[in-house]
Amino acid sequence: MRHVAIIGSGPAGFYSAEALEKALGGDAVRIDLIDRLPVPYGLIRSGVAPDHQPIKAVSRRYEKVALNDAARFVGNVAVGTDVAIDELLQLYDAVILATGAPADRPLGIPGADLPGVIGSAAFVGWYNGHPDFAALDPPLAGGAAAVIGNGTVALDVARILAKVPAEFAGSDIAAHAFAALGNSAVRRITILGRRGPHQIQMTPKELGELGHLAGAAPEVEAGDLPPPEADAALEPGQRKSVALLREFAAAPPDKPKTIAFDFFARPVAVEGDGRAERLRVERTRLGPEGAAAGTGEFYTVPAELVISCIGYRSPPIAGLPYDEGAGRFPNQAGRIADRLYGVGWATRGPTGTIGTNRPDGFAVAERIVAEVPGGGRAGGAGLDALLAERGARPVSFTDWQRIETAETGRARPGAPREKFASLAEMLRAIEG
Ligand SMILES: Cc1cc2nc3c(=O)[nH]c(=O)nc-3n(C[C@H](O)[C@H](O)[C@H](O)COP(=O)(O)OP(=O)(O)OC[C@H]3O[C@@H](n4cnc5c(N)ncnc54)[C@H](O)[C@@H]3O)c2cc1C
Repeated sequence: MRHVAIIGSGPAGFYSAEALEKALGGDAVRIDLIDRLPVPYGLIRSGVAPDHQPIKAVSRRYEKVALNDAARFVGNVAVGTDVAIDELLQLYDAVILATGAPADRPLGIPGADLPGVIGSAAFVGWYNGHPDFAALDPPLAGGAAAVIGNGTVALDVARILAKVPAEFAGSDIAAHAFAALGNSAVRRITILGRRGPHQIQMTPKELGELGHLAGAAPEVEAGDLPPPEADAALEPGQRKSVALLREFAAAPPDKPKTIAFDFFARPVAVEGDGRAERLRVERTRLGPEGAAAGTGEFYTVPAELVISCIGYRSPPIAGLPYDEGAGRFPNQAGRIADRLYGVGWATRGPTGTIGTNRPDGFAVAERIVAEVPGGGRAGGAGLDALLAERGARPVSFTDWQRIETAETGRARPGAPREKFASLAEMLRAIEG
């Protein structure tokens, strides 16, 4: 019997568990999926946009993995705080780190610490009911917001800011965010990218949605677009995205809210009297290597709310090697140290889709099968004893199902669930 602890129950953790179940079968492996939250699924629950429910359906696949006799969910247990990595390595034959990259990469410009400047992890966590960010209260009383970044997360954030309440029907946007956004005064949302339309990292599906919003329309400066013949060199998905930008440029915005694309724009400071009021921006052009080069021309963009969507980092965990520059855990093809492996955003970095994490899980399961023999360790029984000694309150998958039932039961009409946005409420729901 091999005992494996997986730290983190997001996609990378679940794909690793699924691969181990497949590779070893229920009689030869016992897997504990440990998560700091009482609820599973990582960014499927707290990152993927609440108005993109079909994407969240992948959690049904993970549910099957958790319900296999070989696996247990051990929620409400933070590794590094409630239990140390070294202790897990004593108890389990192998440990897999799947803790994701939950912290915002800092904006790193003067004024970035002014009230009103928020990272996307916080803002997205807020509208998705993540307990760490339920109290965020982003300033929505000003007329203008700036969203920094040209990736899909920036699109999610701009779309959520732009939607009218009726467009959240069928979503699981957290009640506090639904109410606050319903009263929002934001009318102009500027999405800033350091480079141009050919360099965006936005999928056509998400970009296309901006053209069909009830109360908002996109705005693209035709002059920012390269000559149409240059699109031929793009790969097909990117060509579609750029074609959408061309459509947006051809139709002036005609709705109460505008989502303005500001390309070749590098924010250099957030300015304001005690709080964010505007972004100071340097105009850029593409340099010879395709990087953004400053032109020395500066201007300001009004923004009482500034949301940076410029990437994520994994916070360090005591007892683990850490690459400060990259903000993740160094590893060789998924191996961090003897019997310690890593998968997903924690070791690969914050890129790709949900499915990109799947091969990580399968590769690490293969390595564990080849490199780690079972060794008579205590496994989950040992963890239970340690947690009991420490007065911890682990949450089982059955407990989570009680939380889920309660969340479904209190949903707005037509919504799939109303998430509990605090640990106390989650734990109360388990008691019934
Ligand atoms: C805003 C946003 C929107 C996205 N939308 C999409 C989309 O529409 N489609 C798509 O394909 N992909 C999307 N993605 C990408 C997708 O969410 C990621 O690829 C995926 O979630 C990464 O999986 P992971 O398991 O590495 O990390 P995560 O999903 O972050 O899971 C990590 C887990 O580890 C737990 N954890 C962290 N620290 C500890 C600790 N110390 N102890 C115990 N547990 C811990 C966390 O609670 C969490 O449950 C989106 C990402 C973001 C940020």
